[in-house]
Amino acid sequence: MTQIIPKKPIAVESKWQKELANSFTTLESLLDYLQIPLEKALEHNPARKLFPMRVPRPFADLMKLGDYNDPLLKQVLPSKDEFVEHTDFVMDPLQEQKNHQKGILHKYLNRALLIVKSGCAVNCRYCFRRHFPYQENSINKQEWNSVLGYIKEHKDLDEIILSGGDPLMAKDEFLRWLCNEIVNIKHIKRIRIHSRFPVVIPSRLDTGFLIGLQNYRFNPS
Ligand code: SF4
Repeated sequence: MTQIIPKKPIAVESKWQKELANSFTTLESLLDYLQIPLEKALEHNPARKLFPMRVPRPFADLMKLGDYNDPLLKQVLPSKDEFVEHTDFVMDPLQEQKNHQKGILHKYLNRALLIVKSGCAVNCRYCFRRHFPYQENSINKQEWNSVLGYIKEHKDLDEIILSGGDPLMAKDEFLRWLCNEIVNIKHIKRIRIHSRFPVVIPSRLDTGFLIGLQNYRFNPS
């Protein structure tokens, strides 16, 4: 008798997830795509070890073919200048690394920033948070509840920024849960989303994501 083995459900990837997975991660592949001779950039290649390359194809499509000095390309090209040391250079320019509670930076009286995700859709060479201790700020569901408790306790807060990394690296389901929790805190009047996805992978703002966002209404004060 033949045994029937149930098929595993196939995980369906959305367009943005496929585009993210197909990002350029090597200098060779990116410059080849942009029809730029590799020799131009080879002296800068060692800087990749300081910060990995990641460039989504839709972002590369905004760059000018054959132009090594394209300003968008410069944002993502490793540079030997990244090895320069100077007494005025610091790893934590915005003094964010001594936060009191994991997952949240409370920098202004009325405004706090949540470290929703550590990764980004694009790795920008100029990122001021590239030395941020993301591992120490990666939190589980219970710890997210502590973060929400912190926001509830601090009634001077009226604005929450979803950041990271890039918060839109998170799944829609999690973002819906988080936004829903935040809008139900009476003193919060605004949520801002700090993301480069609209520029580098616009398909991230798909119907499912946008419909999810439409469902939130802040409490009128
Ligand atoms: S945090 Fe912002 S600036 Fe830094 S790498 Fe990510 S997208 Fe770029």
